[in-house]
Amino acid sequence: MTMIVIENVDIFDGLSPEIMENHHVVIEQGRIKEISHREVRLPGASVISGQGKTLMPGLIDAHYHACLVQVSGYDLATIPPSLLYPAATNLLEASLRRGFTSVRDAGGADFGLAEATRTGIINGPRIFCSGRPLTQTGGHGDMRSRSHTEPCLCASHQGHMVAVVDGEDEIRKAVREEFRKGAHQIKIMLNGGISSETDPVWLCQFTDAEIRAAVDEANRRRSYVMAHVYQDRQIRKAVDLGIRTIEHGNFLTLDTAHYMTDKDVFLVPTLVTYKALRDKGRRFGFTDEQFRKLDEVSGAGLQSLENAVAAGIKTGFGTDLIGEMHVHQTEEFLIRKEVQSSFEILRSATSVNAEILNKTGELGVVAEGALADLLLVNGNPLEDISLLAGDSHNLSMVMKNGEIIS
Ligand code: ZN
Ligand code: ZN
Repeated sequence: MTMIVIENVDIFDGLSPEIMENHHVVIEQGRIKEISHREVRLPGASVISGQGKTLMPGLIDAHYHACLVQVSGYDLATIPPSLLYPAATNLLEASLRRGFTSVRDAGGADFGLAEATRTGIINGPRIFCSGRPLTQTGGHGDMRSRSHTEPCLCASHQGHMVAVVDGEDEIRKAVREEFRKGAHQIKIMLNGGISSETDPVWLCQFTDAEIRAAVDEANRRRSYVMAHVYQDRQIRKAVDLGIRTIEHGNFLTLDTAHYMTDKDVFLVPTLVTYKALRDKGRRFGFTDEQFRKLDEVSGAGLQSLENAVAAGIKTGFGTDLIGEMHVHQTEEFLIRKEVQSSFEILRSATSVNAEILNKTGELGVVAEGALADLLLVNGNPLEDISLLAGDSHNLSMVMKNGEIIS
């Protein structure tokens, strides 16, 4: 593997609001070997000029769904895997071009898909997968319609995409099964959701004992549980029962936000999905009832982020998009600007998300020894975060694992 030197570049390291001006960065064997304010001369190295550009860590999306694809004529209950995975490949490749070098898949993607991007079969981000998310019967992941009756083993179970489980024993078995199959973390559904037909958003799903069983099994694996949850009361319960990352969290109050900070629990808001669903939900077959749920949830989103910021919660960066809505992925940067500084948003999408992935120091930073997942931005994103928005026209380089992708 050739050595690469990026010369005369300003650096945002993912941790500090101060830009390191005019530095020289050496990349070798997939890692950052050296960062120096002195010029570096290395015979045989390929040299990239960083003049007028900012080098920053590759972006991380901590709430992503590679497998929530959209293929005309199919829904997620009927699409065969052989059609699903090529569509997922397209989503992943586009996200990498947008600068997302890692994603935490919040349900659907498995170890095989993660391997496909790790080995370069797919030119996509590193995937930290959850395997099948766990949902109770009639929960947010249970996509069977009201008219569906058992026994039936048809595809609407999405056997490869979601695990419908009830009771501690089934939960333990499902968590063990997902880890056996290579999941990095476990995803669990603790409230109703917008896209599911049969459950109201306010429904608190799973009993305390069931949630505790999932957390216990994940902890035994030295991993953790991420939870889909909206309601303030259910967020507090999730924190008490050992959930490590709260996904969405739209009805988070300031009081509970302080509680999360005290307990060192992460929040991963996903605000752009509500905007994208409003724009494109009809084409995705959303019903009036689903739009009503969307209104209920999306109105509270920015306030919860404001509460999180005020309480000092470690806040990650997620998008939670479906199918063609992924083109809106970078709009999350713009939506958050109303509440967070550019530095805080960028830190969320880099070093905070790396901490969520348990990859502190390896990902989400520009530092000696870190993996060379890097972006070269035309201009300074700390001054103008919109440089990262749109479809990557301000990225002059996307590098993953020391290799230039685009
Ligand atoms: Zn969710
Ligand atoms: Zn999700």
